[in-house]
Amino acid sequence: MKYFIGNWKMFGIPGSIKILDKINNFIGKDRKNNNKYKVSIAPPHTLLHYFAKNFKNKNISICAQNCFNKDYYGAHTGEVSAYMIKKIGLNQIIIGHSENRESGETDQVLSEKVFAALKNNLNIIFCIGESKIEKRKKITIKVLKKQISKAIKKKYNFNKILIAYEPVWSIGTGIVPKTSELSKTIISIKKFLNSKYKRKHNFKILYGGSVDNNSIKKFKQIRELDGFLIGGASKSSKKFIDIIKNYYK
Ligand code: PEP
Repeated sequence: MKYFIGNWKMFGIPGSIKILDKINNFIGKDRKNNNKYKVSIAPPHTLLHYFAKNFKNKNISICAQNCFNKDYYGAHTGEVSAYMIKKIGLNQIIIGHSENRESGETDQVLSEKVFAALKNNLNIIFCIGESKIEKRKKITIKVLKKQISKAIKKKYNFNKILIAYEPVWSIGTGIVPKTSELSKTIISIKKFLNSKYKRKHNFKILYGGSVDNNSIKKFKQIRELDGFLIGGASKSSKKFIDIIKNYYK
C-alpha cells in the first residue's frame, strides 16, 4: 500500500472543498490502481470538521496538521487537543513538521504530542529531516536517529506510526535528493528502526520535499518508499492527481 498525503499548511477556505471533490472523484474512477494507494489531505484546523463530515466513508481521509502537546481538554487558549481531533471523526495527524520545529517545537514537546495522539487512538505521520547545514556536516543519519528516538517509545503500537522523511532543504525549494542518496537514507532509517525497537515490524517511511508530477517519476524508482507527503502540489487537484497518475504510469 502506498500513501499520498497532502499537507495544505495554512491554506484553504470552505470553497477549497472543490479540490477534495475532484481528487475523490478521480480516485473513484481509478479502478486499475485505487486499491494500491490511500489518500489523505491535511487542511488547517478551521476546515477539519467540515471536511471530515463531507468525506466520511469517501475515498479521501482527512488528517490534522498538529495538536496540543498534552492529553488535556480545557483551559488553553488557541490550542486544539488530540481528543478534540478524534471527536470530530478524524484518525490521522501530522506531528513534527519542520515548519513547527523551526517555530519552537522541541523534541520534548513532540514526544508529548506523539503520546497524546496515540492515547487518543490517532494514526501519526511523524516528520523528521535534516537542515541544509546538517546535511553539509554529513550528520543527516545522526539527526534523524535523534529525532526518532526522542519521540518514539518502544512500547508504542508501530502500526499507528508512519515516518515522513522530509529534508528541510527540499521543502518548498524544488531541490530534491538524488535517487541513490534518498534510497540509502530510507534504508538506513528502516534499519535503525528495526534495530532500535527490536521488532520485525515493517516500518513505513514516506518522503516529503518538492514532490510534484515531475519529481515523482524519479521517486517511484525507490521501492523502499511507502509513499509521499506533498505540500505545495497538494493545493491543486490537477497537480495532486498527476502525481498519482505518474506514479502508476
Ligand atoms: C511539506 O511541507 O511537508 C512539503 C513536503 O512541502 P513541499 O511539497 O511544498 O516541498
